[in-house]
Amino acid sequence: MKVLKFGGTSVGSAQRMKEVAEIISDNSQKIVVLSAMSGTTNSLVEIANNLYQKKHDEANTIISTLEKKYEQEVELLYSATEYKTKGKELIKSHFDFIRSFTVDMFTVFEEKSILAQGELISTALFHFFLQENGHDSALLPALDYMRIDKNNEPDMDYIKENIANVIKEQGQKNIYITQGYICRNAFGEIDNLQRGGSDYSASLIGSAIAADEIQIWTDIDGMHNNDPRYVENTKSLSELSYDEAAELAYFGAKILHPTSVLPAKLANIPVRLLNTMAPEAEGTLISSKQRKHRMAAVAAKDGITAIKIKSGRMLLAYGFLRKVFEIFESYKTPIDMITTSEVGVSVTIDENQHLEEIVNDLKKYGSVEVDTDQVIVCVVGDLIAENKGYASTIFEAMQNIPIRMISYGGSNYNLSLLINAQDKKQALNLLSDQLFN
Ligand code: ASP
Ligand code: MG
Repeated sequence: MKVLKFGGTSVGSAQRMKEVAEIISDNSQKIVVLSAMSGTTNSLVEIANNLYQKKHDEANTIISTLEKKYEQEVELLYSATEYKTKGKELIKSHFDFIRSFTVDMFTVFEEKSILAQGELISTALFHFFLQENGHDSALLPALDYMRIDKNNEPDMDYIKENIANVIKEQGQKNIYITQGYICRNAFGEIDNLQRGGSDYSASLIGSAIAADEIQIWTDIDGMHNNDPRYVENTKSLSELSYDEAAELAYFGAKILHPTSVLPAKLANIPVRLLNTMAPEAEGTLISSKQRKHRMAAVAAKDGITAIKIKSGRMLLAYGFLRKVFEIFESYKTPIDMITTSEVGVSVTIDENQHLEEIVNDLKKYGSVEVDTDQVIVCVVGDLIAENKGYASTIFEAMQNIPIRMISYGGSNYNLSLLINAQDKKQALNLLSDQLFN
């Protein structure tokens, strides 16, 4: 069985849903994972934010606008009056439910319940559409099998056992439809796998049922060897290893959520990135196969802040890095890149919320310098040390660009450089010319 995931844009309108139905209507058995229709989760977040602030009128305006949008799509999606009525009743029940939270006691629990409505609606509407058109489909409620534990990690044993049960309950069907993103937590409450988490759902489901393949359908033709927004003539990559894909997913290639590579890798299930706008295109195949001697791609991550801590005390001392890291940990701020010398350490973060407090705490240990507006540019590929010469090739391209930090050796698949944001476009183009043209 294959798992096919369609993102918000791919199910973003009645027309797009019909196209998805076309794509999945061969006779093979599959699980189809859907996101909420595009824009929905953002609106639900906005509704929740207003409710936290007790701005009930503002919340109600967004709720009504969103509901109207759905009513219009329902009108366009179905042909028969019977299904239009079913669709409208469904929409009404979900929006009445959302409205029931415009009360003063609004907590995280209520918020999570609201956020879950987007995927519940898109999957139900799609299921009705398949039924109206004579497909053999069934809904698998994600809240009955998808679960995270106390550390917010997927509870794989639970997921495996329970997805098998819900499939069994539905009996043999050609198409099983289920919600991405939503789950229950260790206390059985409604929760989610974080924004963009539908890819993760697909990967977890694929792993749980030992799928033949996990397909992630978006509206671009797979991962590219450079960022098409800044570089002309980028090429779609026909294959990538899990490790390369994981590096690229983190570095801004929005097409695949970074968390979704690991479950597939552990279960050794190929992941294929495909394009709903060009369903015949081969896309990108991610698997355990590592192409030798290939620099696969260049990518960049914006909004990086570099922090340098210089201290005489670091010289020959042990425990210094731990103290530095603990400060970041205490503000729940992840560190991305690290470089060290005998008298100092530089780290980068992509989350500035607690920058001031972090810097204040770090001053206990030495002098602190902060550079904002930085960008990490990374080259991903088979960069194993034995492949001599790749570093000089990369640095030759970068010879006229000031480099603030260099990181290599964390993995065999990535060399990262920290540069000023204003040099990003030039750096991506120079690397592209040098490595791929
Ligand atoms: N609907 C969720 C979001 O917008 C999950 C997803 O689309 O992957 O973040
Ligand atoms: Mg996505």
